[in-house]
Amino acid sequence: MKISLSKKGGLPALPEQYKDKAPKSEVLGIMPPEVISEFQAFIFDKKDNTFGVAAVNPQNPALQRFLKDNLPEKSRIEWHSATKHNITSVLKFYIRDFSSEIGALVGVSKFESNGNIAKLVDTIIDYGFSEKASDIHIEPLRYETAVRFRVDGMLHPMASIPRDIHPAVVARFKILSNLKIDEYRRPQDGRIEPEHIPDASLRISIIPTLYGEKIALRILDDSHKNLMLQNLGFSEKQADILMRNIEKPFGMIVTSGPTGSGKTTTLYALLQLLKKDGMNISTLEDPIEYALAGVNQIQANVSVGLTFASGLRALLRQDPDVIMVGEIRDSETVIMAANAAMTGHLVFTTMHTNDAPSAFTRFLEMKVEDFVVASIVNLVIAQRLVRTVCESCAEKDVLPEAIVKKIRERKDILNILEEEHGIKGDGLAHHKFARGKGCKACLKTGYLGRTGIYEVLEMNKEIHTLVLNHAPAEKIREAAQKAGFVDMLSDGIKKVMDGSTTFEEVLRTTRLT
Ligand SMILES: [Zn+2]
Repeated sequence: MKISLSKKGGLPALPEQYKDKAPKSEVLGIMPPEVISEFQAFIFDKKDNTFGVAAVNPQNPALQRFLKDNLPEKSRIEWHSATKHNITSVLKFYIRDFSSEIGALVGVSKFESNGNIAKLVDTIIDYGFSEKASDIHIEPLRYETAVRFRVDGMLHPMASIPRDIHPAVVARFKILSNLKIDEYRRPQDGRIEPEHIPDASLRISIIPTLYGEKIALRILDDSHKNLMLQNLGFSEKQADILMRNIEKPFGMIVTSGPTGSGKTTTLYALLQLLKKDGMNISTLEDPIEYALAGVNQIQANVSVGLTFASGLRALLRQDPDVIMVGEIRDSETVIMAANAAMTGHLVFTTMHTNDAPSAFTRFLEMKVEDFVVASIVNLVIAQRLVRTVCESCAEKDVLPEAIVKKIRERKDILNILEEEHGIKGDGLAHHKFARGKGCKACLKTGYLGRTGIYEVLEMNKEIHTLVLNHAPAEKIREAAQKAGFVDMLSDGIKKVMDGSTTFEEVLRTTRLT
């Protein structure tokens, strides 16, 4: 395919008849909204093999590569220049129903009656739940208010609201969450329990910004249906190891991964399994992500001196059996948590390391004695969240050329493909993998929902000795592999092979840092 740009600065503007209009339906699926927003470009038309593309910066090499990989061979591109406004307005058409519903509400009688504002706010909340968003952002911009949803970890523009009704919308949210209506200058936090949605609540945070108060809502689903180990993507073998270790009377279970990798959810799932009569389970968290019945959850709060360390000290005087410490950030907390595990408590916590074997070296770096680490750390789970392929529009296809190229640069992936799945280097380009084409159910992204990819490392005699000798993480990994340890990358590739996710997702989340 040839991408040629006409003389510099000579690009025609986006033709009038395409402004504020949905792109032709046959090109709608090629660029998902997050790609449009990342590259600030979109495909608006197609005639024979010529695609009309409007871009803020057509010279962007990443954009050119994307088009090369995603348009049929021998396609021609007719470039047009786009303004930022063109991009924002085209993005609105990707979420037509919500947008038009909001549009209809906004259009009625300029919002003189409060009834409409209340209906508008309810509609935003309802859509947040029905799209399975984790967060809703209501952001005042210079000329409009943007409504964006975070779905499966990605932010999507959903609709826009006229600037002049923004204060009324904020006031309505403040009423619903019992916040001060006349406070505009300070941040406020609260909670909304929508009457019409059972078992659900929203955490709301409002902060003043340049163009008005910005609202962020976190949707809290208290129904726990997602907290079963098998729903989280653990294999049967991994789940067995987890079960065996939570039944131990003391020691430490650590989940590890970057922010947003689902580590707290895993710990919650384990605590749910542990919950038995006659057991005192206490947690110290910041923030408390779900309410767990039968568990004493304490919110760490630095502003009143309730740090992880001081909270843990107080907690230990409450005769707990099981303790969860939201995150280990400093030596004082980690040493106290380790002591608790030494003295007959089962302690759950989270850490930031790249992989499971590194957790042991991290403990040593944080000044926990080697014999303590060797004797208390029962289990380390490292994890990432990947998006799952949308079942409504899944199909099998060969990989895009660019992905094949990326994979060929990764020896570790090629080894796993050949050794575990019998796919040799040159077979890769012909093998068909699951991929979502993009449909209404998945907001044209091809993905719906998420699952975890995991590595589960259990302590054994050999690792015990290695920790005592301060061995590097690599040695611990080798010892674990001898005992059947499956690393995160292998687990991810297994999930690509069975069609639950894609190489793009595994590559994105397991990037070496
Ligand atoms: Zn779909």
